[in-house]
Amino acid sequence: MSEPAKESGSKLVCHGCGTELEPDVAHPFVCPERHADDVDHVLNRELDLDGVTFPREAAEGEENPFLRFRRMLHSYRFARACGDADRTWVRRVTERNGDVADVDGHGFAETPYGRNAGLSEAVGLAKGGLWVKNETGGVAGSHKARHLMGIAMQLDEAQRAGLVKAKPRLAIASCGNAALAAATLAKAFGYKLDAFVPADGDATVLAELKALGANVIACDQQPDAPPGDPCVHRFRAAVAEGAVPFSVQGSDNALAIEGGETLAWEIAAQHAAAGGAPLDRLVVQVGGGALASACFQGLRRARELGVLPAMPRIHAVQTEAVHPLDRAWRKLAQETVRLLERRGVPSPGEDAGDPDLAAFLAHEGAAAVQYALEIAPKQRSTYMRPWKEPVKSAADGILDVETYDWLMVVRAMIETGGWPLVVGEKTIEEARALGNDPGGVEVSATGAAGLAGVLALKATGELGSKENVGVIFTGVQR
Ligand SMILES: [Zn+2]
Repeated sequence: MSEPAKESGSKLVCHGCGTELEPDVAHPFVCPERHADDVDHVLNRELDLDGVTFPREAAEGEENPFLRFRRMLHSYRFARACGDADRTWVRRVTERNGDVADVDGHGFAETPYGRNAGLSEAVGLAKGGLWVKNETGGVAGSHKARHLMGIAMQLDEAQRAGLVKAKPRLAIASCGNAALAAATLAKAFGYKLDAFVPADGDATVLAELKALGANVIACDQQPDAPPGDPCVHRFRAAVAEGAVPFSVQGSDNALAIEGGETLAWEIAAQHAAAGGAPLDRLVVQVGGGALASACFQGLRRARELGVLPAMPRIHAVQTEAVHPLDRAWRKLAQETVRLLERRGVPSPGEDAGDPDLAAFLAHEGAAAVQYALEIAPKQRSTYMRPWKEPVKSAADGILDVETYDWLMVVRAMIETGGWPLVVGEKTIEEARALGNDPGGVEVSATGAAGLAGVLALKATGELGSKENVGVIFTGVQR
């Protein structure tokens, strides 16, 4: 295998400065023009879907989503452009999934999805349905490993193509599930991992990380440090010194998104197979934003491939403790309204509530999205500012002080007519208690935060009883 000889049809383009990566870049992770400016340098993947048939069902032996959906993955396209045969890839990923299973007890496979009758009743959707994608039994107990598997496969391919000589060191910043997923995959693939974690991190998680062989580095908030998460600062310093960003945030590693898209592709296929009405809404918890970004982009591709009749409204859920994305959406929404007013479009009014504002933006879709995409990425700090207030919540996996993938999630809400939901601790606890059913699902408060968003939506009276609403139980209670 040598470097790519032909177009792969999977291109990475920075939505901040427009830079397009060359197809033979071994590590297509971050924009090469990313400096300390106010541009939102995040690479988005442009995927040519010509000739791709959406695999509505997994072929025998291809229950692993990284096999089933391989034709939509960057590392597969890269390997094929380098001259590898399809069966070569299948053999390699099958072997790698075996390595993951050796570490974690099981490898990647389709996770359960379906209408939950008890929860549908409990949240007032008896005539429609509450649909749950359950990731609590996934690799390392959450959806995070999906985000990292696409990166791990690309690292393999780059070494095979001879574009990278030695095995690089990996780095991640996280306090919980993402670090555990990273440590699990690093061990399976034979990489050294530096995990930058908060000094007051959960002792059980830290012990598990060490048991998996990760080098755990505790990070304190220094009084004179710049705003933002100290673990992220230390992680980025390690990356600047040559470590590979084994990150679940699209802003730090663009390929984190495609692995997350496999979750959305499964939802699209599983919902279609169940028959009935399409999803009206998808309510997704947001910390760094990669999951919501991946869901939006994944569903959009599923729609393009004909498996999804229409996009559901996407709602991002954050906690009252920390909600920088809600702040960003609000600012961008209001500015867009004012801009369109100046162009003669009648405004929804000063006191328009979120549903009216969201409906207005979706109706003016093209103009609103164009504004968001042209103006916002050039002045990131106007919209996305690190959260400074105290940050305590039971949903401690979504307390990121910045929503790193904020722009794609704001775009998702503008395009689909959704809006952000901010939930308090009582609602989070209620959702966690509801989500833990006697049938055996043990979901964490973070994992049930999407359900908390549904409860918040219900409380506003916006949820019709005939609606079909999707949520993701992202992680297991530890
Ligand atoms: Zn850029």
